[in-house]
Amino acid sequence: MPELPEVETIRRELEPLVRDKTIRGVRIERSDIIGFPAPDMFARAILGQRIAELGRRGKYLLVRLCAGTVVRQLLVVHLRLSGQLAVHAARTRPLRFERVRFLLSGGECLVFIEPRVLGRVYLVEEDHLPDVLGGLRHMGLEPIQPEFDAAYLRRKVGHRSARIKALLLDQRIAAGVGNIYSDEALFRAGINPNRPGDALRPREIERLAAALRDVLLEGIKHLGTSMRDSRYRRPNHLPGGFQKLLQVFGREGEPCRICGSEIVACTIANRTSRYCPRCQRR
Ligand SMILES: [Zn+2]
Repeated sequence: MPELPEVETIRRELEPLVRDKTIRGVRIERSDIIGFPAPDMFARAILGQRIAELGRRGKYLLVRLCAGTVVRQLLVVHLRLSGQLAVHAARTRPLRFERVRFLLSGGECLVFIEPRVLGRVYLVEEDHLPDVLGGLRHMGLEPIQPEFDAAYLRRKVGHRSARIKALLLDQRIAAGVGNIYSDEALFRAGINPNRPGDALRPREIERLAAALRDVLLEGIKHLGTSMRDSRYRRPNHLPGGFQKLLQVFGREGEPCRICGSEIVACTIANRTSRYCPRCQRR
């Protein structure tokens, strides 16, 4: 599933391909992909708007649209588990799992590919997010923001009895963090994913805040993580490179690169967590 580093890579690589292009048409193959407003209104309202820039918040891609010179609306893209964005020549025949196609000025199109039909696109006013985007409105800080420090993380998890892994998956606490980067950050901080939030000592919280930031920045540097079972691809359809540097995620049954113990898996918050029972004993 694309997390912060994957969506940030998509943002950086897609922006030069679509910036300043005007949306000339929309072809909706699956209307359930349109999260807001109703599909016919969505298609009508977006026509003629120009793509000003691409932003990101957590795992959401934010396409800022202009009418004239005024930023009017946001096209919000949530890739969920398997969504992918690509730019092709407008005459390209429909791609496999293509759900929405935006025809752009200049003879190209932006295509939203989503095999599992869980991803969504929304057309909204920047300061009037609809209820369906409540997750975006109530999002916490991102670990790569300077304000995400030990004091912030302690305020968010220090009084919670839930397991730290489950807390890290909460977008109100650590925006943009998902299963891959939370496993990797806990490994780097030497913290067992089953520890309750309120059992962590100040030094551990400090290490965890730093590990979250470092692992996300490295994920961005290596253009995200493409696993065999994840469909994350960059806009040019190429994979990212961080999968080669994973220490625990997807490595259950393999030896820890630090101590040689076997990496184990457990289920937390309905997701599989991986950790080293020796390096993350506590
Ligand atoms: Zn180990």
